[in-house]
Amino acid sequence: MSVVRHIKSCRGCGSERLQRVVSLGTLPLSDGFLRSDQLDQAEPRFPLDVAFCLDCTLVQIEYTVAPEVLFGADYPYFSSVSETVVDNARANIAARLAEHHLGPKSLVVEIASNDGYLLQFYREHGIPVLGIDPAPGPAAEAQRRGIETLVAFFGRELARRLAAEGRAADIVHANNVLGHVADTGGFVEGLGMLLKPDGVAVIEVPYVRDLVEKVAFDTIYHEHLCYFSVHSAMALFRRYGLVLKRVERIPIHGGSLRLFVTAGGAADASVEQMLAEERAAGLDRFDFYAGFARRVAALSDALVTLLQQLKAEGARIVGYGAAAKGTILLNVCGIDGRLLDYVVDRNPWKCGRFVPGVRLPIRAVAEIERDPPDVLLILPWNITDEIVRQQAAFRARGGRFVIPVPEPRIL
Ligand code: ZN
Repeated sequence: MSVVRHIKSCRGCGSERLQRVVSLGTLPLSDGFLRSDQLDQAEPRFPLDVAFCLDCTLVQIEYTVAPEVLFGADYPYFSSVSETVVDNARANIAARLAEHHLGPKSLVVEIASNDGYLLQFYREHGIPVLGIDPAPGPAAEAQRRGIETLVAFFGRELARRLAAEGRAADIVHANNVLGHVADTGGFVEGLGMLLKPDGVAVIEVPYVRDLVEKVAFDTIYHEHLCYFSVHSAMALFRRYGLVLKRVERIPIHGGSLRLFVTAGGAADASVEQMLAEERAAGLDRFDFYAGFARRVAALSDALVTLLQQLKAEGARIVGYGAAAKGTILLNVCGIDGRLLDYVVDRNPWKCGRFVPGVRLPIRAVAEIERDPPDVLLILPWNITDEIVRQQAAFRARGGRFVIPVPEPRIL
């Protein structure tokens, strides 16, 4: 497979009736953080164009970058780094434990299990778990914690292998992975093969409604191929004989859906209600997405203008959080060393590296004390509360925060 491929048809239903929503330009990989010895080299850049399927309503990007390029050995993301993600997992598992009678003969599988941040809560209750994750670093960390983890991409083939070994799951968790797999159909078919007849897949995906309404264009990146609504998710599961049984809307990652998918049975009232809400808002039609490109351009202009004003007043500005969405936001808006001095991040792996494209240096969070800025631009705006809490001392000294999305504002 070549490094990048333009899709000719919908990832969900195969239709060729794709309509462009927005082009964000030709951008570097959101997690392609550079070492200093790479600064004299050009980095890979790929188009980031988004389309809407006029048949199944699935929103998706038009290019697929090879997973080996996206999720190589250098992949930096460790789930446990974010307290919000771990808190969400803890609450999710408490609810599942209350609903299902799980014991030592049960099996809970997580796809994209990362460092075991979620499965650990089942393990505390003596429930057998299996993690699946293609990134060797986080998987090794999970193994160290005693959580069996297969270093692999999940799909039809792996599901078949597990089924042949007699491993079937009572619960399969898949958080923020369904939208990231190149073979969407193989993934969903594999889910069906992995579940016990009365098992349930609990799938979390960012909600495209929140993305559009909050102008969260920075959550669009090459790793993230599909952007689901209840309409498009239901169509996808139905295509592979699965039932979308229940839906919850949850606040994580700027707004997500938690989808409960089973092999049989009927949808409960939550599904019909969400479908009705989506129809009323127009999510099943292109018109809902039509103004998005214009709103992205307006947000970008407003943010750059605000930062320029602060800079003109003599403020030193630093970016907080070298998140994937930060790479996209900084590159789409063209915010580089002319506006920001540096970026800080809690992940030691990222410190000493540079943000792709705009090439801002990434330093430890302690730099805020050592080399104090006046303003922090919060890049992972979805965890603003967490960051503001952590930076109480900065704020007490008169430090200010800029929140970029859904509209740039000073806190
Ligand atoms: Zn489609």
